[in-house]
Amino acid sequence: MMHGNEPTGFEALIQFIRRGAPTFNWTLVPMVNPTGIDAFSRLTVEGVDLNRCARQAGPVESDVLKLILQSSRYELALNLHDQRSIFHPMGISKPSSLSILAPAAMKDSVPAQPELAIAWAGSLSLWMRELRPEWGYARFDESYYPTAFGEWVQELGIPTVTVETGVAQGDASRSEVGQALFELLCRADSQLSPDDQGSAHYLSLPYNASDGCDFEFKSGIQSSYWKLWEVVQDGGYDSGIERVESTEDLCPYQCIEVAHADFNLLTQRPIWTTAELYATATSSLRDLAAVLPR
Ligand SMILES: [Zn+2]
Repeated sequence: MMHGNEPTGFEALIQFIRRGAPTFNWTLVPMVNPTGIDAFSRLTVEGVDLNRCARQAGPVESDVLKLILQSSRYELALNLHDQRSIFHPMGISKPSSLSILAPAAMKDSVPAQPELAIAWAGSLSLWMRELRPEWGYARFDESYYPTAFGEWVQELGIPTVTVETGVAQGDASRSEVGQALFELLCRADSQLSPDDQGSAHYLSLPYNASDGCDFEFKSGIQSSYWKLWEVVQDGGYDSGIERVESTEDLCPYQCIEVAHADFNLLTQRPIWTTAELYATATSSLRDLAAVLPR
């Protein structure tokens, strides 16, 4: 949790700790941004994105992380993040449940992805696909972000993989994806080296596209598009669905036929919280609310 609103990696790490003694020695840092976590916010309470602070002095959160990373001769670094549900493998109408990236490292003034990092990144994606073959898998574009931690750690000579977990269909709260990430960490803990097929798999993965939306509601010829919505309001966490106004180039993951009365009810407003949806009388809306984050 370098970003305070991305808890899936944290939850997987807690399970990994509870499992007991691992095969290899790992340094686990479940929480880097405690003030952001309190506010369910990407940024720290001072408004800082810790993943843009790798090459500067301060704030204290990123300084501590740098000290940890420089304190040992690590053979692999995993940077666990969550991505929004708008990301999907290009050309595929399902959310990216796992996107991976081997960040580039500067070599002779040219950014290049280290081979071992590519092999590990591809292995993680391959192993997760073995666990959950029905999910969407993608890779990030490999643009060089010098102030991000992935690039900086890669340049320390540690093979580094940025892991971005997303939602899966019917798992908007990411509990299934968190469980799969835990199982993936266990698999990584049983492997001395990456999979033989890792690099080839990485290079065969589609890139992430960002024009996904979660639901298309249909009633007759009428259609309406919605995406997942999460926010902290009045000190409490709220979630639901939010209407997408522009319908150009949208890639909906799920099309749900709803009764005319439900369609009219839904489209009366731009945002529905899960609680409001759940409180509505019709069963089709209750079924929908049941799979949203709570
Ligand atoms: Zn993040």
